[in-house]
Amino acid sequence: MITVKNLDKSYGSHEVLKDINCTIHDGEVIVIIGPSGSGKSTFLRCLNLLEKPTKGSIVVDDQEITDKKVNIDKVREKMGMVFQQFNLFPHKTVIQNICHAPTRVKKMNKAEAEKLGMELLGKVGLQDKRDVYPVTLSGGQQQRIAIARALAMQPEAMLFDEPTSALDPEMVSEVLAVIKQLAKEGMTMVIVTHEMGFAREVGDRILFMDHSQIVEENTPEKLFTHPQHARTKNFLSKIL
Ligand code: ADP
Ligand code: MG
Repeated sequence: MITVKNLDKSYGSHEVLKDINCTIHDGEVIVIIGPSGSGKSTFLRCLNLLEKPTKGSIVVDDQEITDKKVNIDKVREKMGMVFQQFNLFPHKTVIQNICHAPTRVKKMNKAEAEKLGMELLGKVGLQDKRDVYPVTLSGGQQQRIAIARALAMQPEAMLFDEPTSALDPEMVSEVLAVIKQLAKEGMTMVIVTHEMGFAREVGDRILFMDHSQIVEENTPEKLFTHPQHARTKNFLSKIL
């Protein structure tokens, strides 16, 4: 579904992504791990063109999204993104947060959008929060709403950038449970996380990034038990 070839990204003379190559198949869950500053967020942001790659190509469903002629908004609609900070609209209620993009961007009518919104709230276990404001919710609840909001655009893939890093520890599992459920349903996902148990459980493949490159990729089983590269071993020895 997504093919990345020879992707480079620089900020001035600072190379943040160096020759990234990667294929993500339909229904696959890719987990990206690696030290802070290795380029994980930048890579995710390139996948939905929040960052413009300096070189290389990204093909999504046979469409080269790195082509200058491409409609960036259409590309972003295909990829739901969830950030570490939930970024909900504070002055909108939960259901208004979820219905905003479907009604504005997809021109879905309000009743239809709210019906979908309620289904998605059911999926994340928060139907009773429909009319409250984000500030009244816990971090875990806000992140589940952010996931529902991204799903409301009916994306083909979901990108998660450290979705549990800003949460108190007791709220991590409720958010991971929602993501695990999406994996079961066959959603294509790319997830940056420091939750290694979760990575192992949910990932079809793990990519280890370090110093702007994908150093190693493998199944969770192999990568965690038999890392091939010294840098992977070193990273895992610090966190496991
Ligand atoms: P990670 O998510 O793995 O921690 P990032 O992709 O956020 O890494 O960042 C990789 C490198 O790119 C870091 O050195 C960071 O300082 C740099 N970087 C990220 N965004 C920008 C930007 N907008 N301008 C300049 N440098 C940036
Ligand atoms: Mg990051």
